[in-house]
Amino acid sequence: MRTVVDTERPKRAVVVGGGYIGLEMAEALILRGLEVSLVERGEQVMGTLDPDMGALVSGAVAEAGVQLHLGESLEAFEVAGGRVAAVVTGKRTLPADIVILGLGVRPNTDLAARAGIPLGVRDALRVNDRMQTGVSGIWAAGDCAESFHLVSRRPVHIALGTIANKQGRVAGINLGGGYATFPGVVGTAVSKICKWEVARTGLQEREIRDLGLEYVAAAIKSTTRAGYYPNAGPITVKTLAEKGSGRLLGAQIVGIEGAAKRIDIFATALHAGMSVQDMINLDLSYAPPYSNAWDPVLIAVRQADRAVREGG
Ligand SMILES: Cc1cc2nc3c(=O)[nH]c(=O)nc-3n(C[C@H](O)[C@H](O)[C@H](O)COP(=O)(O)OP(=O)(O)OC[C@H]3O[C@@H](n4cnc5c(N)ncnc54)[C@H](O)[C@@H]3O)c2cc1C
Repeated sequence: MRTVVDTERPKRAVVVGGGYIGLEMAEALILRGLEVSLVERGEQVMGTLDPDMGALVSGAVAEAGVQLHLGESLEAFEVAGGRVAAVVTGKRTLPADIVILGLGVRPNTDLAARAGIPLGVRDALRVNDRMQTGVSGIWAAGDCAESFHLVSRRPVHIALGTIANKQGRVAGINLGGGYATFPGVVGTAVSKICKWEVARTGLQEREIRDLGLEYVAAAIKSTTRAGYYPNAGPITVKTLAEKGSGRLLGAQIVGIEGAAKRIDIFATALHAGMSVQDMINLDLSYAPPYSNAWDPVLIAVRQADRAVREGG
């Protein structure tokens, strides 16, 4: 992509797909001075966030100068002289010198299926905790393999390097004659779009509803550093907890520098099966360059705990 941008000097780019790859590409192209449009069939970018948090990201992307076309699907390309000339959506034609498709990823498991290896969710290879497939002597790890979701207690397919590395390590130990297991994932992911950091872990509202669980949601706004400290900026933290028990089910964060990695506190709490009540007294660090005395994570879980106590 860089070679094309450097040598052919395209002026107008159309990115199709508002997931993290599409957004990161849109950022890269804006920074290189291209005019960038992004087409996404959903009503928000970043479909792994709830709509209210996705709207913050949509706003950030638009603020960065990307022309957003939400609720529109790619229908065709116009081609002139053997090159793409435009992207056609249901609503408009967008002239384009270069097109990026960030449309998601599916495991390429045809070969495995033909070999009789059992597939699971989204046609990913079904594996046990040791990364063994259903056929003796064949192991799988990474984007082609399933994971077990520790919050929903269901198999999932999540194509991330974080998971691929851990699964690969476990498969390697077992293949080498050792013993290791990979217990599962909680769905943690981070991304950056210009000055905005975006993070999520656990289940989003739609997934919780699909499981038939009831939940409370609490979103708070705070600052990434003490409010008076230089370069403090906004952070929004949303927490989802089970109604009644207060069990943490998920969290999402959008904010400026310093925001995203706070999601790791929630990810750890999900692994530990903590409730928002358990989290309130976590001994999290504080100094003005890093947070307020009450870290935004603690403010968020207090708010969620109140919602649980009030019955949602
Ligand atoms: C642009 C982009 C950005 C990303 N950013 C992040 C990020 O920030 N954080 C994160 O956690 N994840 C990120 N990911 C996802 C991450 O890269 C993948 O989840 C990870 O690389 C998967 O590892 P893997 O080993 O399963 O597959 P791959 O890394 O895809 O490796 C598979 C290898 O197998 C080879 N291969 C395929 N078929 C055959 C065959 N028949 N014979 C021989 N070799 C074959 C391929 O050529 C390839 O080298 C990103 C992905 C992309 C595309």
